Amino acid sequence: MINIQDLIRPTIKALKPYSSARDEFQGNSDDMVFLDANENPFENGVNRYPDPQQRTVKSLLSKIKGIPEQNILLGNGSDEVLDLIFRAFCEPNQDNVITLPPTYGMYSVLANVNAIEIKSVQLDDDFQPKVDAILNTANSQSKLLFLCSPNNPTANSFEAKSIESLVNKFKGIVVIDEAYIDFSNKESWLTRLHDFPNLIVTQTLSKAYGMAGIRLGICYASEEIISVLNRIKPPYNVNELTQQKAISQLEQQKLTQQQVSDILKQRDLLIANLESVDYISKIYPSDANFVLAKVDNATKRYNQLIEKGIVIRNRTTQPGCENCLRFTIGTSEENEKLIKTLLLISKS
Ligand SMILES: *Cc1c(COP(=O)(O)O)cnc(C)c1O
Repeated sequence: MINIQDLIRPTIKALKPYSSARDEFQGNSDDMVFLDANENPFENGVNRYPDPQQRTVKSLLSKIKGIPEQNILLGNGSDEVLDLIFRAFCEPNQDNVITLPPTYGMYSVLANVNAIEIKSVQLDDDFQPKVDAILNTANSQSKLLFLCSPNNPTANSFEAKSIESLVNKFKGIVVIDEAYIDFSNKESWLTRLHDFPNLIVTQTLSKAYGMAGIRLGICYASEEIISVLNRIKPPYNVNELTQQKAISQLEQQKLTQQQVSDILKQRDLLIANLESVDYISKIYPSDANFVLAKVDNATKRYNQLIEKGIVIRNRTTQPGCENCLRFTIGTSEENEKLIKTLLLISKS
């Protein structure tokens, strides 16, 4: 059985968190007079500090995802959430983390920023985790294992039985990054939080929910883990405008569902059309709002598209992604333009 307390950095365990004015007194009764936070008293919609615990946003997410509010922490994008996880569990110049390339670049950037060694175990030819190799690479200093599923840039989900055995056998924290889960027909690991004390699931409002601009990342975990992250997060890490926009958008669940289903239809259409492009040799299965495809010469095709005003992502330098391009699913007009252009540049 994993003891989370043994994984937390001693400095963090000993930390006395900053207590903000809004932590010390909560209440929003209209006849209260707030003279405790040195704010400007003239109302303009943002003159007050935001709720440090983002209660309204959390209660909406709690209803949508079926997870109690005590199991949720919000951050300034997933990037902040991931950084908090590093700072809670990884001792600089001592601990290490395991990543599975080709995958999301932020895990290794954050490891470098925090002076944490990266052990990488490349995904297999089907972009699935090599469970035994991962467990053999882990040592007593391996604090975090990042599983991005559906994975960026490969677009596939990892097999449930591989994830389950990693969460069971890895002796540190397993972070499942579910940034693209709302595009997938696979079940979220949120339903298994109670089975695994060492599991953290991260999600975001940046992709399916259409709010990349407001920067809101979500961390779901046991109360024990959430309370550690709460101790180290900056008190007002999610600003008032972000909270307001998240609330109004989360109240329109139907709109998000409609957009996701449109994007999925467009994805299938794009894949069908990509099959008729002669220099595309492989289209990888997608559980996300993007498609990875192998071409004859990724850099040449990337530059040709740029010339025609279309920007995609060239992933050719990623391990296992030689000559691969990543296409985000756009509107039907954008996708039609993409396909037309891909066919047009075929002759050159
Ligand atoms: C886009 C993406 C995120 C989202 O990051 P935010 O900081 O929340 O915008 C997280 N993880 C992966 C794998 C992504 O591709």
